[in-house]
Amino acid sequence: MSTPLVRHETLQGWGRTSPSESTVYEPDSEFQVPAILEAWESDGGAQRRGSIARGLGRSYGDAAQNAGGAVVSSAALSRILELDRAAATVRVEPGVSIEALLKFLVPRGFFPTVIPGTGIVSVGGGIGADIHGKFRHGSFCDFVDSATLVTPALGPMRISAETNADVFWATAGGMGLTGVVTEATLRLHRIATSQMRVDTTRCRDIDDCMTAMMDDSRGERYSVAWIDCLANGANLGRSILETAVHATVGDLPAERARDPLAYGAGLSVSAPPWMPNGLLNSWTVKAFNELWFRKSPKRPHRTTVSIPTFFHPLDMVKGWPSIYGRHGFVQYQFVVPYGHEHVVRIILERLSAAKCASFLAVLKRFETSNAGLLSFPMPGWTLALDVPAMHPGLNKILDAFDDLVLEADGRVYLAKDARVAPQRFAAMYPHLERWREVRARLDPNCALQSDLSRRLGL
Ligand SMILES: Cc1cc2nc3c(=O)[nH]c(=O)nc-3n(C[C@H](O)[C@H](O)[C@H](O)COP(=O)(O)OP(=O)(O)OC[C@H]3O[C@@H](n4cnc5c(N)ncnc54)[C@H](O)[C@@H]3O)c2cc1C
Repeated sequence: MSTPLVRHETLQGWGRTSPSESTVYEPDSEFQVPAILEAWESDGGAQRRGSIARGLGRSYGDAAQNAGGAVVSSAALSRILELDRAAATVRVEPGVSIEALLKFLVPRGFFPTVIPGTGIVSVGGGIGADIHGKFRHGSFCDFVDSATLVTPALGPMRISAETNADVFWATAGGMGLTGVVTEATLRLHRIATSQMRVDTTRCRDIDDCMTAMMDDSRGERYSVAWIDCLANGANLGRSILETAVHATVGDLPAERARDPLAYGAGLSVSAPPWMPNGLLNSWTVKAFNELWFRKSPKRPHRTTVSIPTFFHPLDMVKGWPSIYGRHGFVQYQFVVPYGHEHVVRIILERLSAAKCASFLAVLKRFETSNAGLLSFPMPGWTLALDVPAMHPGLNKILDAFDDLVLEADGRVYLAKDARVAPQRFAAMYPHLERWREVRARLDPNCALQSDLSRRLGL
């Protein structure tokens, strides 16, 4: 058996707030993974700091890094293994990105059901965080048929919601702390075209937006609202709502209808030149948000656009995170159950009052939750806000948001988190003890560790 590539590397999350150095392994075969876990398994002392899996490093905080320990990268495990057209499933290695999956699947008439707001996310990272998207009827692991998980105590095992539900649902959203996923089979949605039929509506304030999002009469499959966080007073929560379905051949203009599944990645544009690195302030963000709002049609508008244009608009803006400057940024994402809409409103009010230069925030809603013990989605509203890490008093502002979310029985999203206090986190995730029990069976010596797991006492 060959040996994996090894290097020392400073790793960080997408928000660039807390870099740390790890020994990075790049196995090119699943058979190399158990030996890496074993070599780094803690001996009870401080010498060995365990291992953690890493995909494409798109979690914002410290979930996929492990100071002084090992990181198992899935970069060389990125093959698409088998498409079963009759069953509508695809078997892949964990390092396959959503972008690569779309390029492979869409021309063949399939779609991965749940995709996040960027295509640069791996399948392993999708399972580790049980990611969600604009689809509100389930999250990523609802469409994972089965997976191979390499665990420290029990070795490689095949997991699925049917055969070993406890392990499967501890792994879904378990932030890599139950094992390393080395292969997964995903259930797919059949599509007739590579285009989305999108309805765009301007909403004058947050109430208008939520009312429109609750209106199911359009029969849309996907929805998202882009909220201008700096608008205040009567305009608080003014937003652009986009709802979409996969376009049918009949929705396409004649020249596209000839090859309805043709798929090309979207155009790429640079971050706006008037937005200098690190000089973000409430004025520049206000101008950007204004521009975004004004570019949307005044009246409800229907159009067809490509899959990346609808799902991954930020991927088309090259280097957009650099506009937050060298100190990076924090993404704060929470969910609160229906009936607690006031929490969304209060958070927008406070953010606007603090002149916190947050770009367009993203509001989505979920209809369901799954059995994931640490999964984030629950029926309710989820708001994601990007804020520069150096905003004065940010910690205090976000701690107060945590309290509001907690009082409403909501939670913050671990894939975006870099700062929640361990006691607040524990109170937000009611199945944490059950998750700990399953993890203790799979990994009694804490061979799997990350900066996030130590920060939160997982
Ligand atoms: C621009 C942008 C938009 C985003 N939009 C969304 C969104 O709409 N919805 C959403 O849910 N998320 C969103 N995210 C967050 C992102 O989808 C998650 O953080 C996802 O987990 C990142 O995948 P990754 O491959 O980069 O994994 P990493 O960040 O490398 O790892 C994430 C977690 O998964 C674990 N993991 C990775 N690989 C494996 C493996 N093989 N086995 C076991 N565990 C593993 C890691 O240990 C870690 O805990 C967005 C991120 C960005 C940057």
